[in-house]
Formats: sequence, structure tokens, C-alpha cells
Amino acid sequence: MIVLGIESSCDETGIALYDTNRGLLAHALHSQIAMHQEYGGVVPELASRDHVKRALPLLRETLTKAQVQAANIDAIAYTQGPGLAGALLVGASVACGLGLALDKPLIGIHHLEGHLLSPLLASQPPEFPFIALLVSGGHTQLMRVDGVGQYSLLGETLDDAAGEAFDKSAKLLGLDYPGGPAISKLAQSGDPLIHQFPRPMLHSKDLNFSFSGLKTAVLTAVKKYPEALTDNDKANVARGFVDAIIDVLVAKCQTAMKQTGLKRLVIAGGVGANQQLRAALNAAANASNPKKRFQVYYPELEFCTDNGAMIAFAGAMRLQAYPELATKNYSFNVRPRWPLHELVSA
Ligand code: ATP
Ligand code: MG
Ligand code: FE
Repeated sequence: MIVLGIESSCDETGIALYDTNRGLLAHALHSQIAMHQEYGGVVPELASRDHVKRALPLLRETLTKAQVQAANIDAIAYTQGPGLAGALLVGASVACGLGLALDKPLIGIHHLEGHLLSPLLASQPPEFPFIALLVSGGHTQLMRVDGVGQYSLLGETLDDAAGEAFDKSAKLLGLDYPGGPAISKLAQSGDPLIHQFPRPMLHSKDLNFSFSGLKTAVLTAVKKYPEALTDNDKANVARGFVDAIIDVLVAKCQTAMKQTGLKRLVIAGGVGANQQLRAALNAAANASNPKKRFQVYYPELEFCTDNGAMIAFAGAMRLQAYPELATKNYSFNVRPRWPLHELVSA
């Protein structure tokens, strides 16, 4: 079965073709980061218009790369939510238009399910069940995943998402949007002993997170400098921030592994691309006490942030697990707000 995937929930237009026999055939992506940068964040109306411009050229590019004729697609998966309404509508209307023209079934995909399952696209995918840490621009959640569509929420952020904390702290240091990668890079040359920022909820016994206080601590630190920060000062603040947030993320993962007794941890979402996080998790997974050891799985770097491949893949997995979800009803609707627990499951 060949599934076309369409992602347009925020500021990336992603198209991909996934074959349940041959794996990922091709994918193409356009990121709007440069366009939104001058506004310091995503401008929804500009995002929608750009998706309109990019979707069909990217679709043609993907079909050509995969050497697949549109008529040979078996189903079309598109991101139905959550995300920006106008942006989602573009992907949904392209999916519905194509479905109608080609007489192919559609399936609406939950964007977070796409992120969650993206590590399964890697060459050595984890088996179910596993614990998933979803760390993206809009979400920070720990989930237990028992199979496709079988997700239970173990804990989540009470305020800012991890990616949001990276971006907001980066902005306080004058870095461009989205600042996650930039603040991490800067942190590498920073001194870890200059700023000791709080580790919010590190010792709360639950699996929830809170990052808004950390952002405030960064703001307070920046304000304490009597003059404009030098590059060195910025690197030191960045280091303090990155060390603090990673300590919390790693500690909560360890608690989740201990509480559930599972031995596989999967990281998904944009912050999963962070090298400091990967290094710290790998170290934790290799604990000297064998009982505390676990295996960590990551998506390919290019599939950490938004992309079409994860949507095509989630569509294929879902259609195999729940074929009745395929629809030839082409009147599209999107779900800008859509809690993951409302997904149809076994
Ligand atoms: P959601 O999926 O929750 O709707 P989103 O789609 O905007 O949100 P993603 O595309 O998964 O989120 O990830 C984008 C986020 O990841 C941004 O906040 C960005 O700063 C962060 N990010 C990307 N790369 C890195 C990195 N190397 N280090 C830290 N953060 C990063
Ligand atoms: Mg994005
Ligand atoms: Fe995302």
C-alpha cells in the first residue's frame, strides 16, 4: 500500500510517499522559518498563503523522486490537527481535492501521533511497548505507547512547552526565531558554573513539567548585567539554561522508566534534535546500575521537526491497524484543537 502524506499544521509544508512494503519512497519539505523570522514568530496568515504556494510543487517533486504515478497512490493521509486552522485547511483541501480527483480514500492524522511514531521510521525501530517523550514547539508530554493508537498520557507540561522555553529564552538573548538550535549551539561555549538556574519540578514525584519559571530566571539573569551582554555572557546564560532544562527532561524520563518498568524510551519532536539532550539521555540509559539501564531511540534528525514523512507513515500504520478509518467523504474538516486521547484506538 502506498500512502501519500501531507503536513501543513504550522510553518512547514511536507509531502511524502510511504510504501508499506518498501518503506519511505521520497519526501520533500519547505520550511517557512526565514519568512517568519523578521516577525519573531509564526504569522498564521502568511503561513497559510505559503502552504498554498508550496503544496503542489512539493507534491510533484515527491512523485518524481519516488517515480510513482499519482494514480498508483492507495490512500492520502493529511494532518487534520492540532495546529493553525488556516494552515491545516490548506493541507486538508489539497488532500480532499486529490482524493476526489483520483477516487482514493483519505485519513486525517493527529500531528502528535505523527511525531510519536516518527522514530519507527528509523533503520532500527523500537518495538512496542515504549515510553515516549514528546518535546516539540507546542507540547511536552510523557506517554506510554502500547501500539498504534494506544497512547496513555503519563505527564505533561503545566505551562510552556520545552521548545517554547528554548525559543523564548533564545529571544531574551537576542537570537533569531526559532532559537532552539541557536541557543544550544551558543551553550556549547558557555561556562556551566556562572549561572545556576532552577530545575522546575525536578523532585515532584509526578511526571509533569513546568518551564515558565526557567524563562523568568533567564530574564532576571539577563537584566542583572549592567551593560549589553557580550557574546561570552550570552554563552554563559545559554549554558545555564540548557543544562537546567536538560536535567529536568532527563530526570523525568528516568522516573517514567522506573515507574513503568519499561526498557525502551523514544524521543520525538523538534527538541529531540538537541545534541545535549541526546548525550545526556544516552548517559542516563547507560547507568552503572544494570537495573536502571534502558534503550533510547531517536527519529532521524530531519524527522524531528515537522515533516510529511511522519504523516505518511502514521497514515499507513493507522490504515493497517484500523482500515475502517479510510473515508471517501471529501467534505473536509480540520481540528485546530484536538486532544490526543480523543483519537480512535483499539
Ligand atoms: P507541535 O508539534 O507541538 O505542534 P511544532 O510542530 O512547532 O509544535 P516541532 O516542529 O516538533 O514543533 O519542533 C519545533 C521546536 O523544536 C522549536 O521550538 C525549535 O526551537 C525546537 N528545536 C529544533 N531543533 C532544536 C535543537 N537542536 N535544540 C533545541 N530545540 C530545537
Ligand atoms: Mg515548525
Ligand atoms: Fe510538530
